[in-house]
Amino acid sequence: MTVKNTVRPSIQKMSGYTPGEQPKTTQRIIKLNTNENPYPPPQGVLDAIRDAVGERLRLYPEPTSKPVREAAAKAYGLHPDQILVGNGSDDLLTMILRTFVDAGQVVASADPTYSLYQTLTTIQGGVFRSIPWDAEGALPVQALIETGARVIFVVRPNSPTGHAVPLESIADLCVRAPGVVVLDEAYADFCDDNGIPLLARFKNLIITRTFSKSFSLAGLRIGFGFTHPELAEEMHKVRDSYNVDALAQAGAVAALNNLKAFDANLEAIKQQRTRLSTELEKRHFKVAPSQANFILARIPANTMGGDQWLAELKARGILIRYFTKPAELADKLRISVGSAEEVDALLAAIDEIIAAI
Ligand SMILES: *Cc1c(COP(=O)(O)O)cnc(C)c1O
Repeated sequence: MTVKNTVRPSIQKMSGYTPGEQPKTTQRIIKLNTNENPYPPPQGVLDAIRDAVGERLRLYPEPTSKPVREAAAKAYGLHPDQILVGNGSDDLLTMILRTFVDAGQVVASADPTYSLYQTLTTIQGGVFRSIPWDAEGALPVQALIETGARVIFVVRPNSPTGHAVPLESIADLCVRAPGVVVLDEAYADFCDDNGIPLLARFKNLIITRTFSKSFSLAGLRIGFGFTHPELAEEMHKVRDSYNVDALAQAGAVAALNNLKAFDANLEAIKQQRTRLSTELEKRHFKVAPSQANFILARIPANTMGGDQWLAELKARGILIRYFTKPAELADKLRISVGSAEEVDALLAAIDEIIAAI
């Protein structure tokens, strides 16, 4: 017997989630591969985290992240009982699967989307069903419902496509879904609207948010779930007891108490999103309209495959993301929107690469 056979067969068979590359901090790299924010967090947030470093770290943090829930309730117009806090929003996704999915039950989402849902479903012993997006990226509501899924995930704006389905199709899904609908709003701060108003209409809706993208705090690991208090109460049962550490709670409260501090960065990213899209179109990439902090660009014909683009840019110190699956992504590159200087460097590198072909 090899020791590997002691592992659950479903885990042996799965490959695990593949995150984007995180280079060593000593390397000078332009990092446009994991949709992090190019700007540093506000000074007030850094100060709050530093202030939390001290003697009190010998104590456990507040188990339910109550100060964070209270600050988030104020910031988003909700009640603290509607809010769960996680070690990143990925922690919320785990809580959701633990709460709603037993072995053999179905979880569904439209494809392509965030691939972690499939990984987490497999770990939970559930069955994952991918449904292709309808024409023009419309939500395939009927097909999703027909899966009988206990949990349906919709990312809005979606990754890696950047498009946002109409909120009314989320409402339609909530009305007809046999279980809960999870609206993953990791990129909502870059979008013109969001699903928070729907919470008052639908008890089976869970919205997830993260501080990793719009709030420059991917390293802190802070995420939220917004839902009906009855569901929140059940979800608290499956949470790791102290799932959000004291430093993360301190930073999150400071960020929530001064959301305005992020406005200028959000505006700058939206401006660079427009500029990057326009400039890539001039270079014969086809860029899908994006409501997020990344763009999905179809590679111009007669240049190179995605793997080669990835390698050529990496050789010039620029990381982007390329997905070979599903087939519709195989001729596209996903590029996070960086600062103006990073976009300059990317465009210069692309010009150099094209000139050498
Ligand atoms: C980045 C991302 C997350 C993860 O957020 P964390 O808070 O860093 O765990 C969740 N969902 C989607 C769609 C994402 O792109």
